[in-house]
Amino acid sequence: MSGPVYLDHNATTPVAPAVADAMAEALHCLYGNPSSAYAPGREAARRVGVARQQVADLVGASPKELIFTGCATEANNLALLGVAATRATPGHLVISAVEHPAVAEPARHLESQGWRLTVVSVDSRGQISADDVVAAVAEDTVLVSIMLANNEVGTLQPVREIAGRLQGRGVLMHTDAAQAVGKIPVQVDELGVDFLTLAGHKFRASKGVGALYVRTGAPVQRILHGAGHEQGLRPGTENVPAIIGLGVAAELAGEHLASSPNRLQERRDTLHRMLATGVADLALNGHPDQRLPNTLNVSFPGVTGQALLETVGDTVFASVGSACHSGTSAPSGVLGAMGLDTARASGAVRLSVGWDTAENELQCAAEALVRAWQTQQRSEKGSASIY
Ligand code: PLP
Repeated sequence: MSGPVYLDHNATTPVAPAVADAMAEALHCLYGNPSSAYAPGREAARRVGVARQQVADLVGASPKELIFTGCATEANNLALLGVAATRATPGHLVISAVEHPAVAEPARHLESQGWRLTVVSVDSRGQISADDVVAAVAEDTVLVSIMLANNEVGTLQPVREIAGRLQGRGVLMHTDAAQAVGKIPVQVDELGVDFLTLAGHKFRASKGVGALYVRTGAPVQRILHGAGHEQGLRPGTENVPAIIGLGVAAELAGEHLASSPNRLQERRDTLHRMLATGVADLALNGHPDQRLPNTLNVSFPGVTGQALLETVGDTVFASVGSACHSGTSAPSGVLGAMGLDTARASGAVRLSVGWDTAENELQCAAEALVRAWQTQQRSEKGSASIY
């Protein structure tokens, strides 16, 4: 095995061959505008309808409850700003401290417009307490937005419990499920949410397509102004090839989840075991069990994740759990919110496997990472003895 190993499926996933084929066919043959009344337009609209049903089936929604968007960021913005747009006066919004910027930033924007914002903290495993969220809800709370799974550490949030406990209190519930859909079973009725975000490129569809689930009757207004596409909530001619690809990816995800539900977790845990054997005191970040089955965020002791990944070079593609600014590593917001100390946070690497990750790739990646850690350790010791 000589090629690079891709272990960053939480950043994005390679497009599945069946998705690429469906998209290519659409690009070549399906030129009509789905809003046009003549045959090519009607055919494009029909195929968009098929995709809408496929995506709806994956999350247990009705097709008319799905609004296609350009990405998860747009779906999150539509949920938060679109709910706010229905209100004559600012209200109260609750989010967690580990939300992706695609939720945290629109929330901050609403705060700048006079909304009251409560950011609920997480524990050292990155998990929010349902008690804390329920306690944060007040008379003026309009919306609670808590992600289903965290993108950096994979920790799952008790969205179902929160939604259940808020039922009957007149509070709307949104979940950003961009990292969860396609990796774990996600059913909107089981979760009890009013809004749910998903992103095509996180589960083998292409970039440039996402969706917002809007429970029938949930109050939301469009945030872009234009024609009446997507039930008046998202104007703009539909990205037909990407939407068709999203439908195929949703079907594939459903099949994988039904036929080999443990596959991702087995691969991830194999990788974890291999790394733990080679790296003394490797520390797992995130929840040990209530975690995305594909996500392994680990801190390598005595090194920075950034230096480690630079040492493995193009052997392993992964990302760090810390953002680097001008050569200095600052802990990521998520690891900081979990209260990890700076050394542990800067030693973090996020490894995320995919449905296609092969056993021999895990072996190759683990060996490269362990070797890089050993090399880094030696150079750290060397520089310590010089200075
Ligand atoms: N929400 C979560 C949890 C994510 O992980 C991401 C992407 O990493 C997004 C939203 C934004 O997705 P996109 O860049 O496709 O809009």
